[in-house]
Amino acid sequence: MVMSSVSVVDKVREHLCSKGLYGDVTEWCEARNDCVYVVTCPDCSKEFMLTDIEYDELLAWSQSSDQACGVDFPHA
Ligand SMILES: [Zn+2]
Repeated sequence: MVMSSVSVVDKVREHLCSKGLYGDVTEWCEARNDCVYVVTCPDCSKEFMLTDIEYDELLAWSQSSDQACGVDFPHA
């Protein structure tokens, strides 16, 4: 696995938060326990593919952030 200085989580966050948007999330499963998440920008339809670990990271950030952007999450 290639490590990059800017993670896809940061890219999604910067993209959506520069516009103050929540991305649309689609879960794709090739097989059981082999899922990826596709976050789509509702403004320009740009897509970001995240692993479940990266998605969890983005979700956790969205839940703890004061900013109204990121990914929407189920409201308890
Ligand atoms: Zn966009």
